[in-house]
Parts: sequence; C-alpha cells; structure tokens
Amino acid sequence: MARLEKYEGIDPVVWSEIYMTEPQGLKDQEWFANQIVRFAVDPELWSPHGFLSTLQAVEGQMQRVKKQINGPRIIDLDLILFGDEVIESGEFLTVPHARAKDRAFVLHPLAELESELTFPDGTKVSDALDKIDYRIEGKKIYQD
Ligand code: AMP
Repeated sequence: MARLEKYEGIDPVVWSEIYMTEPQGLKDQEWFANQIVRFAVDPELWSPHGFLSTLQAVEGQMQRVKKQINGPRIIDLDLILFGDEVIESGEFLTVPHARAKDRAFVLHPLAELESELTFPDGTKVSDALDKIDYRIEGKKIYQD
C-alpha cells in the first residue's frame, strides 16, 4: 500500500483486516496473508490496464519471483474490481478477477469493507460467499 500511494492519482481509501489463508493446492507451505484495499484511482491518469501495470511494477520492486503455481511468493497484487467495469483483454487483464467469486480470501474481506457490494453482473458478494465452502476462525480462513 505504501508503495502504491506514492503514485499520483492512486490513494488508499479503506482496507480490510489481514486474514491468514490456508494454502490451496500445495499444502506443504506457509499460510498466506491476504488483504483487500480499495483505492481511489484518478481516471484521468489511470486506465485499468495502466493500473495493473503499476501493480506489476510494484511486485517487481518487491522482487517477486514466480516459482510454482499456487506456491509461496513474497507478494501478489491482483486487481479484483475496477468500479463497474467488465474487461476481457485476453490473458493480460480480466476484471472482475476471474477467480474472485470462488475465493473466500477475496470475498470475505470484500464483504467486510462493503457488505452490500455487488459485482457488475449483479451477484451480491454475500450470495457468492454462500455458494462456496469455507470456514473462518478469527482471522483464519480455511478453504480447500
Ligand atoms: P498472478 O500473479 O498469478 O495473479 O497472475 C498474474 C497474471 O494474470 C498476469 O499475467 C496478469 O496480466 C494476469 N491477469 C489477468 N487479469 C488480472 C487481474 N484482474 N489482476 C491481476 N492479474 C491479472
């Protein structure tokens, strides 16, 4: 967050608690720390593609090295929603994030920030949460 707010026109507005999430797929690794942050993004300065490029630049600054799918990583910055926009730009950018509605570690903190939030297709975040199998204990999220 501190690295992103240095950019003009990108301002954090509200952020969720940090949740610890059980690894999916590769079980033999540390748990992940997940957080959702809502940024006010100046549309005069930032397109969704430009914003994603900046997320990737920050990942690069933090020396993220990709080793294994679903494996350990220092940082992973995903763009979950960009207002009500729906974007399908091949592999580079899909908004809403393609797996957002399947992941408790996305949906639960989103609901914490805005319980009435709806996706651009009208799905309520609370209804998406009802459809998936997960369990929360304190700030720990369990999902296979
Ligand atoms: P990962 O680092 O595993 O989250 O995947 C990053 C890859 O997914 C990059 O090639 C991105 O261009 C692509 N991508 C597509 N849509 C998104 C999105 N909404 N947020 C982040 N990365 C995305």
